[in-house]
Amino acid sequence: MLNRWNRQEADGLDPLGQLVYQSRLIGAEESLVLWGGGNTSLKIEESDFRGRPCLVLRVKGSGSDMKSIEPRHFSGVRMDDVLNLRDREDMSDEEMVAYLAHTLTDPTAPRPSIETLLHAFVKAASVVHSHADSIVALTNTDCGVKSVIDCYNDSIITIPYLRPGFRLSKEVADAIDQSPHCDALILMNHGLITWGESSEESYSRHINLVTQAENYLAELGRGKTVFGTSGISPLSDEQRRAAAARLAPLVRGALSRNERCILCYDDSPGVLDFVNSKRASQLSQIGPATPDHLLHTKQFPLYIAANESTLSDPKRFFEILKSQLDRYENSYRDYVERHRSASDPQLNPAPRVVLVPGIGIWTAGKDIRAATISRDIYRHTIQVIRAAEGHGAYRSLAEDEIHAVEYWPLELYKLSLAPPEKPLARRIALITGGAGGIGRSIAETFAANGSLIVIADLNETDCAAAANELTKRYGSGTAIGLAMDVTDEQSVKRAINQLTLAYGGLDILISNAGIARTGRIDELNLEDWEQSLAVNATGHFLVAREAVRIFREQGIGGNIIFNVTKNVLAAGAEFGAYSASKAAEMQLARVLAIENGQYGIRVNMINPDAVFSAGLWSPEIKAQRAKAQGIEVAYLEEYYRKRNLLQVKVTAEDVSEAALWLASDRSAKTTGCIIPVDGGLREAFPR
Ligand code: ZN
Repeated sequence: MLNRWNRQEADGLDPLGQLVYQSRLIGAEESLVLWGGGNTSLKIEESDFRGRPCLVLRVKGSGSDMKSIEPRHFSGVRMDDVLNLRDREDMSDEEMVAYLAHTLTDPTAPRPSIETLLHAFVKAASVVHSHADSIVALTNTDCGVKSVIDCYNDSIITIPYLRPGFRLSKEVADAIDQSPHCDALILMNHGLITWGESSEESYSRHINLVTQAENYLAELGRGKTVFGTSGISPLSDEQRRAAAARLAPLVRGALSRNERCILCYDDSPGVLDFVNSKRASQLSQIGPATPDHLLHTKQFPLYIAANESTLSDPKRFFEILKSQLDRYENSYRDYVERHRSASDPQLNPAPRVVLVPGIGIWTAGKDIRAATISRDIYRHTIQVIRAAEGHGAYRSLAEDEIHAVEYWPLELYKLSLAPPEKPLARRIALITGGAGGIGRSIAETFAANGSLIVIADLNETDCAAAANELTKRYGSGTAIGLAMDVTDEQSVKRAINQLTLAYGGLDILISNAGIARTGRIDELNLEDWEQSLAVNATGHFLVAREAVRIFREQGIGGNIIFNVTKNVLAAGAEFGAYSASKAAEMQLARVLAIENGQYGIRVNMINPDAVFSAGLWSPEIKAQRAKAQGIEVAYLEEYYRKRNLLQVKVTAEDVSEAALWLASDRSAKTTGCIIPVDGGLREAFPR
């Protein structure tokens, strides 16, 4: 592992700056820490709130991520207040957390890491703790201690696995006192601790020791085929992705039986090498690499014993998936029952990682971030298993330890603090014609309400730009843009496949793409008529058909909202191609509602009128509609405003509000309905 310390960059920094610099270097190495794992600290002479000098432990706050850590994420703990704790015999986690809250130099600082006392009790100024893959690969075998001694002689202290907390902190301090010649410590099945008089010293020592472990493991694993031969004939990239796109909604639906989830798909080479091997079924069922990995991957992934023929037969695949998932969830409930205490909540029994030979893995989470974290962590689990099997037999924690971490009161407390989920959380929405106008406005409203967004539109660049804007505001991965021509069956299928690969399935379709061609019928050319039918009728059919197929495969309901128009209820002169094609859309919506109510699929319509915002009306349409009404173009907006009962201007945001209500569970008992968003037009009252 490369030592990235650059004195030119670091030397000018103050001590806290050096701690931040060091932590970011650690955070940048995924094989050291992932997603909030690990922690660092530095003891610094500071002044207290009255200006008196005091020694302060700057230690990573709980939950912050080292790769992007800032000075404010390091809580200040007064050393004077914590050192006396070493004399205590024991202390519960709750007691320790409450105690530490009193020792903060700034009472509003984040809660300090659960490993704070461990950092405080080490006498050296700087302490680094990581969950390095290579260290865990060294310890997580049937010959772990021997491998550590083999690799490092006796220069490193080892401590048997113990859950983080007061007792571990005390044991670490005692062990260091007993072996003053050592300058690092390995926590079995957990990670590495190094220390030094400066941030640079403890960092460099950490990197050196990790490198030594990497070299040791590489030497022992040289020439060995760890995962054995492939148990399945590999598919081409194209075949594999086509199969994954086809099977993803089945997996998502099955995993969402208790709580809806989002899927993340991974077919990177390291993952395929593992899942395709004959040994994956056994190696994957041993357990997690470290306690903090467990929180994102559960104790075991679900391994689906699929072969070439089941992968090409979705019905057969689903039968196997369902029976293996039943077994998985029952066995999870049994495990919880074996260890549960009365106050434990019932966590979702569904797996977080699903392995499918030939395909890769799917990870599941309540949102795309959680699913991505699980994916990243499982990739490293595979690396640890590979390296561990190179020198021994991979081992994990005992079941009671697994349960103690998974149902750790402090973790459960964190879950209970999470804000209530937004109305469209755990939902995936496809919006056709989403790059502009009403579609874009709905995308914005839905993203703000927790939905993942798939923006489909004719122009790929426009889709990508609209999706980028949403991800900037709502987080990485929360929106994607897909080029789609709704009139082209193959284009629709291609985009739908990309969508299921990206998120696993679909919950909401906003069938919105439309065109408005004008002209009196006796003057209308065939091309305009056919184009109107292609987009406003066939386009809705093609996209809705694919959406319903996905909804039925997932088996967790579904929601389609058609953006229709007031013209289907009150047709307008010189708007024949538009009104007639839109009428087909409305009947399509009604038939879909009738055919799919039994599957919990709701289909509703919105009839907006005269939405001028968001550049919806081209100058030509404006001119033509003004002519049809016998007024000047400049008065058009005013004309439409005045002709409705409420005498209001209708905006794209007004339409989005109606769409939000129809898409959320607040309208759970409504299907086949039309909501007019037109300020009130008596000739267009639905009846
Ligand atoms: Zn740790």
